[in-house]
Amino acid sequence: MITFGPVPSRRLGKSLGINNITHPKTCSYGCVYCQVGRTVKRSSVREDFYSPELIHEKVVSHLDKLKSDDQPDYLTFVSNGEPTLDRNLGEAIRLLKKTGFPVAVITNSSLLDDSSVRDDLNEADWVSVKIDASDVETWRRINRPVDGLSLDSIFEGISLFASGYSGKLCTESMIVRAVNDNEENFRGLASIIKKTGPEKAYLSIPTRPPSDKSVSPPDTEKLNLAWQIFSEIGIEAEFLTGFEGTGTGYTGNFYEDILNITAVHPLREDALMKLLENDSTGYQVVEALIGQRLIKSVSYGGNKYYIRDYHIRS
Ligand code: SF4
Repeated sequence: MITFGPVPSRRLGKSLGINNITHPKTCSYGCVYCQVGRTVKRSSVREDFYSPELIHEKVVSHLDKLKSDDQPDYLTFVSNGEPTLDRNLGEAIRLLKKTGFPVAVITNSSLLDDSSVRDDLNEADWVSVKIDASDVETWRRINRPVDGLSLDSIFEGISLFASGYSGKLCTESMIVRAVNDNEENFRGLASIIKKTGPEKAYLSIPTRPPSDKSVSPPDTEKLNLAWQIFSEIGIEAEFLTGFEGTGTGYTGNFYEDILNITAVHPLREDALMKLLENDSTGYQVVEALIGQRLIKSVSYGGNKYYIRDYHIRS
């Protein structure tokens, strides 16, 4: 299936998914947390998959079937593998842009040292690059790259791409318990991401059954630590923990507001108190949310923060 959705996405609104990689799953990585299954063909060589014309035809036919209020905000390459392995990606994006919809690509960034990949991605309106590890050992453990790739070259490729890209650039870092959830990695990631200069840096956790069954999300404290380290050096960081949220939810419904904000970033206690100051029942809402294990308090730098508790899901 080349197209699917639209699916709701906090990052992209309504996103019509495009899978430009044919079966079997072909990727330059075999990430421990991969949710599309084991990488059958591990490769860093660009090749032909579906023709750009076929992708365009399938997308147009999918769009034609959608009701007017279900039209997507983005057409998104989010593949059964790594979308930039498709050597016709640039042409496919150029054709798709004729539909009038903006195009997004979610890439693992491993091929960005190749100028033809950077040229192709320059055609897209929104690009997310994956940066999970700041050192080679962690990179090998979490992303399990195909032989021949070099982390230094990838960082150089990301930097070259970021410096010339005029669309919206985001980063995504998946945090896995006991694999890359240590302070040293967070500081290394923060330094690389700061130089990349994304509009947003997303911190995600495994939320669906991963390819390696031993994979699990980090402690809430660790995710908070990553966010704090990113924020301290001026990176706009947000969580992607499987909960929808807006980050700014001052609607007067404190229950919803707190859930919305803490889904996106930690909420410091003084900001929480300010939110509740005009409501006499306010703190009971916080106690109820903690009691229902929907939020959790964590400490950092002498302050208390509240964050969504993603270990228990309703
Ligand atoms: S890069 Fe993406 S598709 Fe490839 S193994 Fe990792 S998570 Fe899966």
